[in-house]
Amino acid sequence: MTSSHLSNNITDRIATIRQQLPETVRLIAVSKQVSAEAIREAYTAGIRDFGESRVQEAAAKQSQLQDLPDITWHLIGHLQTNKAKKALEHFPWIHSLDSLKLAQALNRLATSLSTNPQVLLQVKLLPDPNKYGWTVEELSTDLPALNECQNLQIKGLMTIAPLDLGSEEILTLFQNTRSLAAKIQQQNWSNITMEHLSMGMSDDYHLAVQAGATMVRLGRTLFGERS
Ligand SMILES: *Cc1c(COP(=O)(O)O)cnc(C)c1O
Repeated sequence: MTSSHLSNNITDRIATIRQQLPETVRLIAVSKQVSAEAIREAYTAGIRDFGESRVQEAAAKQSQLQDLPDITWHLIGHLQTNKAKKALEHFPWIHSLDSLKLAQALNRLATSLSTNPQVLLQVKLLPDPNKYGWTVEELSTDLPALNECQNLQIKGLMTIAPLDLGSEEILTLFQNTRSLAAKIQQQNWSNITMEHLSMGMSDDYHLAVQAGATMVRLGRTLFGERS
């Protein structure tokens, strides 16, 4: 298969998906395990937001794409505290903030690096052993301390649907996540807003959009299956 064939594919897929999304929904192209060349194709097709799961992998690709200065990089994978500094250096957005301890570490580092990362709180409304994130109860406990993290711009919630749900259950989960965001918004925290809801992946983004997602994170449906 030639690379021009591949590029047409990505370009067409992006156009098709973009048409299906309301203009206000931000399309994050998830480029984990995807080459810098394919990212470049997606960029040419108009994508400016890319999501990566691993700091190290992203940093390597970013260095190959330095000539594309208007890309916004989003960290969407679990972050260990010992990689927090590097994450701040490479990502203006972190969707996968999933514990108070990590928030406080990022907040401290953000001061010393003079950055104000935009972050989303990863929540888990249903039990899912494979997923990080706050339960509703845990988040309610931690919100006051999160609100003290003045160097973080806390902008909303992120969630991932468990793998084994049917469409109706996924839709309900996304709607409940939206309701949770609305409830937090009503509490009028000084340093927490709920402008954004990052939810929806290749198999469930239609449901997420229906439930009010403002960001969808799409990998396979844009770039093809990962190996
Ligand atoms: C991999 C990943 C995605 C993209 O998944 P696809 O099924 O390829 O669309 C979205 N969000 C997170 C957190 C991911 O890890």
